[in-house]
Amino acid sequence: MSILRDLSSAVGHTPLLRLRHASELTGCEVLGKAEFLNPGGSIKDRTALGLILDAERRGLLRPGATIVEGTAGNTGIGLALIGASRGYRSVIFMPETQSREKIDALRIAGAEVRLVPAVPFKDPRHYVHIARAYSESLNEQTPGSAWFGNQFDNTANRDWHEATTALEIWEQTEGKVDGFVCSAGTGGTLAGVGRALKARKPAVQIALSDPTGSALANYVNCGELVAESSSISEGIGSSRITANFQDAPIDLAWSIPDQESVPLLHQLLREEGWCVGGSSGVNLAGAVRLAQALGPGHAIVTILADAGTRYQAKLFNPPFLREKGIPVPEWLDQSFGG
Ligand code: PMP
Repeated sequence: MSILRDLSSAVGHTPLLRLRHASELTGCEVLGKAEFLNPGGSIKDRTALGLILDAERRGLLRPGATIVEGTAGNTGIGLALIGASRGYRSVIFMPETQSREKIDALRIAGAEVRLVPAVPFKDPRHYVHIARAYSESLNEQTPGSAWFGNQFDNTANRDWHEATTALEIWEQTEGKVDGFVCSAGTGGTLAGVGRALKARKPAVQIALSDPTGSALANYVNCGELVAESSSISEGIGSSRITANFQDAPIDLAWSIPDQESVPLLHQLLREEGWCVGGSSGVNLAGAVRLAQALGPGHAIVTILADAGTRYQAKLFNPPFLREKGIPVPEWLDQSFGG
């Protein structure tokens, strides 16, 4: 019999998909790890599980406790669902600018959602600081009653990607992977997969595809941390170097505009049927650039982090796209009677 005992056992073990258009365009095998197939709908289920298992092992998260986290949404959804299945409640702080669909998914997952203003990290009202302070206040009242996940600076996040995501990619490609590329929010995926693949095969090229407005690509290329403008892709980009991002072994880094990434994800949906979110579009654009940099005949792996349905009202909404200066494909316009 092959039966999964609980939700935690259903996290990970995602298929690796050949992306036809990107492969034909570049002469490489461009492969996407289908992380949207995780039970909570995103790659962040892995982070949530890795953080929870580490905290349980260390005795920081005890039966009946409250999980507290600051998140752009997906980590919160993972924590709330995995938390529910293991007997914890969750309080999630997130910026009010995140998609309606993610906020609803969090509520459906049973989390108590607290929306806070979207302000820079140096502002004490930033969602990460508020979440940490809330968890500390619960612990002051009742010691041990709350645990702060701290996904950005808790390196159990990166370690779990090293142990699971990277290992799966290595086994699924039978070690024939030549390049790995993805965007970074906490940096856990990029650092974890990058470190594990480099350890097995030092020639593997690791690349960062960074959305416009994030400071990370420029930091990797010039050592300067400057963030300006913004992208419509949620959950990725950063204005600071997190503990998880710190040790990512990055060979190449690009800043990717929405005008390059969003048309690729529209095309992926129209021609290949995969409906993925904005960060996956940035990742796909990065995969095409990495394939072009390495030349034909290489195997490039990237991440399809979550589903497009989580951003329906933005990524697939013609008036919203027009307002942002992003081309609207004819088929999408016609679907909405435009
Ligand atoms: N894509 C999506 C949709 C996400 O929610 C996140 C995490 N916020 C990422 C990518 C980035 O992953 P990581 O935190 O591992 O850098």
